[in-house]
Amino acid sequence: MEHPDWLWRTPEPKKSYDVIIVGAGGHGLATAYYLAKNHGITNVAVLEKGWLAGGNMARNTTIIRSNYLWDESAGIYEHSLKLWEGLKDELDYDFLFSQRGVLNLAHTLQDIREGTRRVNANRLNGIDGEWLSPEEVAKVCPIVNVSQDVRYPVLGGTWQPRAGIAKHDFVAWAFARRADQFGVDLIQGCEVQGFLTDGNQVTGVQTNRGPINAGRIGLAAAGHTSVLASSLGIRLPLQSHPLQALVSELLEPVHPTVVMSNHVHVYVSQAHKGELVMGAGIDSYNSYGQRGSVHVIEQQMAAALELFPIFARAHLIRTWAGIVDVTPDASPIIGTTPVENLFVNCGWGTGGFKATPGVGWVFAHTLAHGAPHELNEPFTLERFTTGALIDEHGAAAVAH
Ligand SMILES: Cc1cc2nc3c(=O)[nH]c(=O)nc-3n(C[C@H](O)[C@H](O)[C@H](O)COP(=O)(O)OP(=O)(O)OC[C@H]3O[C@@H](n4cnc5c(N)ncnc54)[C@H](O)[C@@H]3O)c2cc1C
Repeated sequence: MEHPDWLWRTPEPKKSYDVIIVGAGGHGLATAYYLAKNHGITNVAVLEKGWLAGGNMARNTTIIRSNYLWDESAGIYEHSLKLWEGLKDELDYDFLFSQRGVLNLAHTLQDIREGTRRVNANRLNGIDGEWLSPEEVAKVCPIVNVSQDVRYPVLGGTWQPRAGIAKHDFVAWAFARRADQFGVDLIQGCEVQGFLTDGNQVTGVQTNRGPINAGRIGLAAAGHTSVLASSLGIRLPLQSHPLQALVSELLEPVHPTVVMSNHVHVYVSQAHKGELVMGAGIDSYNSYGQRGSVHVIEQQMAAALELFPIFARAHLIRTWAGIVDVTPDASPIIGTTPVENLFVNCGWGTGGFKATPGVGWVFAHTLAHGAPHELNEPFTLERFTTGALIDEHGAAAVAH
């Protein structure tokens, strides 16, 4: 597809905005769109140090689902999935949203316990979910090896039929185009290097293109939010890690759905163009470099071959990494900070793409009202001192 003109246009920053959003990934762009659409706030700038969606947004493996365990997570991810279901028409942009279903495979007794518990919790929350036997897994995805004669046999799996994938860069452009049409300034090549303050409130940002004043500031700079917040003395409970993915050459359609295996650890779908898209777990060390270690890729491909013997004939074409910020309870932080007029949206770790419309919706509400939407109320920074954690890592054992 030809790049439209507005994608490259970068206006000069104005002296002052009602709201500045730092980071033009999916979250920042969706927030700008919903600020304009839901709240009529259009004197907004999205500041991006690189180019639109040059961070995690166009580096992720595009899995969209809402089958999380806890009520708080189910609330925000299902809100997001419902928005995805109407978004193509609303934004008038075909970003290839495909509800081809997501399978989470079980390989141990503990996986089975976790999966069946989660399916029940999902149903109680009105979210579609089923438990499948190995034979049913093979019906949904015939290329999965369900032989019991492998290191970690498939013992079953959870299945969310409404889940799926979308083309991530198109999603960013769809939100960017609409935000641009509302009059939002999308300013590329504009790095936020510090803040303007007056007592305990922020009044603007210091950038490589000079100071810009703002009524409210929302940080949506995945992987870098803790660095920005630390310049104001706020210590966020975040660690930044590389997260890698890879693609094969273009193949005829062989893989009808999305398969995730936490235990063997690989997740795979086939993009519309034909590449097999595969992701793994995070690299274990902290880093801000958008690259990772080869051994992670090797393990990921070994896992893929065990689950999908047919992939032995595919070739690896390209690998890359993004930088994801993870919290101790594997749930995001969305809301106010100890500094007045400064708001954060961070800690989405390996799973924030699916939340893009949902987080845009609630972060826009938070910025417009100066207080959280009911869906992001539980995702406060304070939960790390009160102990009201939303422990998706320990409970759901499901990444991405
Ligand atoms: C390999 C990989 C696979 C993934 N797979 C999935 C998946 O299958 N499903 C899923 O739901 N999620 C997935 N994720 C996670 C998802 O991509 C992220 O959670 C989500 O994209 C984060 O929000 P964002 O799009 O706004 O981030 P980003 O696109 O990273 O946006 C943040 C932006 O902030 C900018 N920025 C940083 N510092 C500054 C500064 N000082 N000034 C100005 N701008 C700044 C960056 O340049 C960047 O463009 C994956 C991530 C990776 C890396």
